[in-house]
Amino acid sequence: MANIILLGPPGAGKGTQAKRLQDARGMVQLSTGDMLREARTSGTDMGRKVAKVLDEGGLVTDDIVIGLIAEKLETTGHGGFIFDGFPRTLKQADALGALLAEKGLTLDAVIELVVDDTALVGRIVKRADEARAAGQPVRRDDTPEVFEVRLREYYKNTAPLIGYYWAKGDLVQLDGMGEMQAVADAIAAVLDKA
Ligand code: AMP
Repeated sequence: MANIILLGPPGAGKGTQAKRLQDARGMVQLSTGDMLREARTSGTDMGRKVAKVLDEGGLVTDDIVIGLIAEKLETTGHGGFIFDGFPRTLKQADALGALLAEKGLTLDAVIELVVDDTALVGRIVKRADEARAAGQPVRRDDTPEVFEVRLREYYKNTAPLIGYYWAKGDLVQLDGMGEMQAVADAIAAVLDKA
């Protein structure tokens, strides 16, 4: 039973791979992006508060997302957690370490999906087109303009986590540019060793 972080820029495939792991291994995907979008749709105070930040591609405050994760760790049954889109800052990474330690849980691997930035915007636009074609809701932040902001946020605030986890010996870097199945196989190999 492993707990892992999927790390990588927007469009790297974190959500897709997290869902596959959830189905294949009974792990639990904890996506702060999904939680924030849900809060927004259900019209909670917090959802209203974060709506503009989500639309503009900025980062929601550390306190809000740490609170969301803390709550889930309290209530969610445990088959191993996949942290998807969290942590995104060094402060969040420290908080996650403390939360896991409190629960006697370990972090078994931080898997970075290494991707080519120039391909990412294409993936995001494709995701929006596919959702539209399937009559599904289209994420408002899946536009080339907002994507640029999200990518910048990633480099400024989240990419430092690569060094942070490397120094702890937790980082595993995988090629995120391959076929979905090839990436899934590479992740499975890491989990089978963890
Ligand atoms: P995602 O679904 O992971 O791409 O996240 C969508 C948006 O939710 C991001 O662009 C941020 O505005 C917000 N968000 C999600 N996770 C976090 C986080 N860990 N810290 C701050 N903001 C977040």
